[in-house]
Amino acid sequence: MSAVILSGKDMAAELLEQQSARVDTLRLNGIHPALAVIMVGEDPASAIYVRNKERACAKAGIASQVIRLPEHTTQEELHARIEELNEDPLVHGILIQLPLPKHLNETAALTWVRASKDVDGFHVINAGHLLQGHPTVLPCTPQGILYMLKKAHVPLEGAHAVVVGRSNIVGKPLALLLLGENCTVTLCHSRTRDLASVTRQADILVAAVGRPRLITADMVKPGAAVIDVGINRVDGKLCGDVDFDAVAERAAYITPVPGGVGPMTVAMLLENTLEAACRA
Ligand code: NDP
Repeated sequence: MSAVILSGKDMAAELLEQQSARVDTLRLNGIHPALAVIMVGEDPASAIYVRNKERACAKAGIASQVIRLPEHTTQEELHARIEELNEDPLVHGILIQLPLPKHLNETAALTWVRASKDVDGFHVINAGHLLQGHPTVLPCTPQGILYMLKKAHVPLEGAHAVVVGRSNIVGKPLALLLLGENCTVTLCHSRTRDLASVTRQADILVAAVGRPRLITADMVKPGAAVIDVGINRVDGKLCGDVDFDAVAERAAYITPVPGGVGPMTVAMLLENTLEAACRA
């Protein structure tokens, strides 16, 4: 194996120490950083993600509360609960765990969160700031990916970054962030023609699709940095979108799944919560 493995787990652990120290300083100033997570319904994957976020908060010394609402919650009930948290001065960050049940409008709910308490960076105002090149609150996964690339000193300026997947939570904001770092960015999706011919041009290749082994070694330029965002379960085991073993022989850098982008997403949630607490 030739690629350097970028361990999000290790980077997140290192960040946690700094975050704990920041919490101590905030406390000395009478501020007790607090995050509220709203989870509607009982999606098993969401339950695991929420538990991970609670654990990470506890390790950093950030207070967290999880508000579990039943599957049949109406849009109005959800907004009323969000409004209570908007008005609560002891809550600095609010996170709506996605996906919401099908009958609920996610965009409306995310926009109901006060922009200054939006620790996911999904509020239209925060997304708009990013679009205009003046980011305020950055979405956690793209922010975590950029952190990993910078930490590994992967050259960004002028690099061709190919992002596969154009969701509002990963692909699109990541493309904008990389553009802000002066990468030349190509955003691919399910209708992209001849995906392999595009990915083979990538100095930085990000897979954010949700399909195991979508990215095979022949789709990767030798020496590329490959970031695997996908989370898939195959035969009960977690894996990403990248054929890890084969691609690691060709790439210069690669992130594993698990232990790559996932822990960095949680680390950036803590970072955004601390920022929100400082702003408050
Ligand atoms: P979405 O389902 O919202 O988006 C998937 C994207 O992949 C879409 O843009 C879709 O294109 C594109 N796509 C689907 N099939 C193909 C294909 N064959 N070739 C190229 N593009 C394709 O997913 P998310 O962005 O929410 O998540 C993506 C993955 O990342 C999932 O596995 C998710 O679990 C994981 N994830 C991991 C996180 C982490 O912290 N590690 C955080 C968030 C997500 P189109 O738009 O045309 O439909």
